[in-house]
Amino acid sequence: MTPAADIAGSVPVVGRFAPSPTGPLHPGSLVAAVGSYALARRDGGTWLLRMEDLDTPRVLPGIADDMLRTLEALGFRWDGEVVYQSRRTEAYQSAMERLLGTGLAYSCGCTRSEIARISSAPHGAELVYPGTCRDGLPEGKTERALRVKVYDELIEFNDLVVGHYSQSLSSSCGDFVIQRADGPFAYHLAVVVDDAESGINQVVRGADLLSSTPRQIYLQRLLGYPTPVYGHLPLVVNPDGTKLSKRENAVSLADRDLEREGWRLLFAALRFLGQSPPPDLNGAPCSEILGWAVKSFDLARIPLTSAPLPLPCQADTLPYRR
Ligand code: GLU
Repeated sequence: MTPAADIAGSVPVVGRFAPSPTGPLHPGSLVAAVGSYALARRDGGTWLLRMEDLDTPRVLPGIADDMLRTLEALGFRWDGEVVYQSRRTEAYQSAMERLLGTGLAYSCGCTRSEIARISSAPHGAELVYPGTCRDGLPEGKTERALRVKVYDELIEFNDLVVGHYSQSLSSSCGDFVIQRADGPFAYHLAVVVDDAESGINQVVRGADLLSSTPRQIYLQRLLGYPTPVYGHLPLVVNPDGTKLSKRENAVSLADRDLEREGWRLLFAALRFLGQSPPPDLNGAPCSEILGWAVKSFDLARIPLTSAPLPLPCQADTLPYRR
């Protein structure tokens, strides 16, 4: 099954890479860039780039440019202009107004701790919103967020990597936030509006977003947008299996000599994705390695389990920052 064949009428693939510039390019982002690039370009498709810089307090100055330089040095070429979410609030506002028009969006005055107290989620699990403000703000509460109502229905999709996935929004998250108390639009709303307006029909990204996808599909349905094909790649974790911290584990220009080492990073990411770049590409220019990936990428070889990403650490270069 190819992504193109998955899309009715074999419409050309429009894929994308959408990093958050909250730290320099991360090993997980490198894998997402390689996977989304190979799977978009292999069918002659387009690959777009979007900076998810909506969460301004976490966005670090200069990081988006650092990421773009790193991607360029690694041989990636994107189509069109880079989209910056921070410049797109009008588009999110108009989607929000459409959601308000459906009568499904409502004001919520609950704090996180109030929700935690009522919701019976086990420690560490996502809180399920108990619906306190669903029928109007209770007396004495002021608006802190806008939520969208969900119903007890199963949202299902076929992931290119993971296969069939289904989730009931009412039991996994409940009515969810589409605009936060401190102003910004929630990630789910922004990503759905951006993907639709850019004509993206194939989303390849890390498996940390697998469980968010049903919320995004739900919003696509409410807003009348088509649902892209999804592919969720295995997560890069620390050698002990714990989650990588974005800030501490960076593949950035500042740390590495990408001219000499770029091919090794691409080899590591391709191997992580189950691919076998041929030894005669050792030391080749990054663009050639990506060219090989575009021609030879085999979706069926992507593993399902998260794993560390063994990155090269040469004695004559700075060690991989940990
Ligand atoms: N910005 C997200 C991240 O860097 C990815 C979002 C997406 O691909 O939908 O983890």
